[in-house]
Amino acid sequence: MNTALADPPRHLALPVFNDNFKAAAHHATQDTALLGALDGSIVKRDYARRASLAADLPDANGLRQLAGNIKAHTLDHLDYYLELLENNVIAAGGKVHYAASAQEANALVVAIAQAGNCRLVVKSKSMVSEETELNAALEQAGIEPLETDLGEFILQIDHDHPSHLVMPIIHKRAADVGRVFEKYFKAPFTDDPATLAELARVYLRKRFNEADMGISGVNFAIAETGSIVLCTNEGNGRMCTSRPRVHVALMGMEKLIPSLADLPVFLKLLARSATGQPLTQYNNIVTGPRRPGELDGPDEFHLIIMDNGRSHILASDYRDTLRCIRCGACLNACPIYRKVGGHTYGSVYPGPIGALITPLFNTLEMHKDLPQATSLCGACYEACPVKINIPEMLIHMKGDLVRTGITSRWEKMIFWLWSFSLRYPITYRMGQKMQQFMMRRAPSRDGWISHIPGPAAGWTAARDFPRPGKSDFRALWKQHQQQKARAGADRD
Ligand code: SF4
Repeated sequence: MNTALADPPRHLALPVFNDNFKAAAHHATQDTALLGALDGSIVKRDYARRASLAADLPDANGLRQLAGNIKAHTLDHLDYYLELLENNVIAAGGKVHYAASAQEANALVVAIAQAGNCRLVVKSKSMVSEETELNAALEQAGIEPLETDLGEFILQIDHDHPSHLVMPIIHKRAADVGRVFEKYFKAPFTDDPATLAELARVYLRKRFNEADMGISGVNFAIAETGSIVLCTNEGNGRMCTSRPRVHVALMGMEKLIPSLADLPVFLKLLARSATGQPLTQYNNIVTGPRRPGELDGPDEFHLIIMDNGRSHILASDYRDTLRCIRCGACLNACPIYRKVGGHTYGSVYPGPIGALITPLFNTLEMHKDLPQATSLCGACYEACPVKINIPEMLIHMKGDLVRTGITSRWEKMIFWLWSFSLRYPITYRMGQKMQQFMMRRAPSRDGWISHIPGPAAGWTAARDFPRPGKSDFRALWKQHQQQKARAGADRD
């Protein structure tokens, strides 16, 4: 076994917003505003729409398998494809930088901005920049970062952080946004989405023209051509990469695909899985800076390829998590995410994939509740366009909790007793009888027990438990078999 958890990185690779999933989940389930936002959100709509659009594809499952295989192949030959990408970016006139950690990536961006005398930086949506907390690093260096994706802009001016990989403000309602804009723009309150979007559009358009540098994420990096691919729905990505003098693209080192011919496979799957669209509105392929004779594009193009714990994951049993294209489909499908929202996970990567990778990036000890944040229903695996078997890996990670000695003695003892009782019919029956005996004596009303003491107290904290009957399944089964035998004997 090669667990990524035995030897965690020295620094925490991801920012931590809370490290107590259970307490945060309890709080989230009492938050009626959050429940209202999640209930009326487009998460459910997109999940349903995704299923109907998948039916458009002649062989959706075959396409998922192909996408998973391409990603697995790229990860197996990552050194080769990284070198190929680097050579082709340089051949196209760009510069390539490698960052071992989030701190190094931020320092590189700041150095490029300072070298180019850049004061205002416009950003398109990038989960990697959330991972590195790039905005804080830029501000510290006296450089103004401005988010231009509408959701990210709202979060920035509200000093909040994303709760979904694709829809960062899923936890806010239109009225919440109205109050944020009322304060920021000193404008009359409105919760009309079109008016709110127009306010932001007018403001951002002016700032695009003033910006010296644009920062983007990378949806895919094509090794064969040295290009990066950006998929957005708002067109802001295009403004960030073509208007300012300097363009910096920031990517995790797993974002590679081998060739241009592979791209349609991912474009077909990404939009369908993320937002239930056949294709994202704007799909940009950016190759190097502006060439002589071209009308737009930056003078400088820099690609920063960041590790930040990924090589550690690559060498572990959890390599498949690096196939993730951050589409968010597993979040939309997950019954737990849909009840507690993204902030509960305490990480920039929430939902089922976040429950897996957050402990891998940081430490399992710090995020020991996250592998338990699953019903193991398999909906995330069904939804994943690159076939990451999240439930199987979560079970493996639960094993790591025991193997690395993080599980409490109390829990270990309970599971030992349980497995012991399941091992032999006699111990199983005895255990069942004991349970029945105790539960029948617990105070109950109308056949329901409202409080069970000890380790099962969590069950009755949220729901009642049915009082066991006098007879159990085995006795009923025996009785049924005897009746059948008697009826057979009477017939004969
Ligand atoms: S794990 Fe799969 S479904 Fe979840 S975000 Fe990544 S690619 Fe999408």
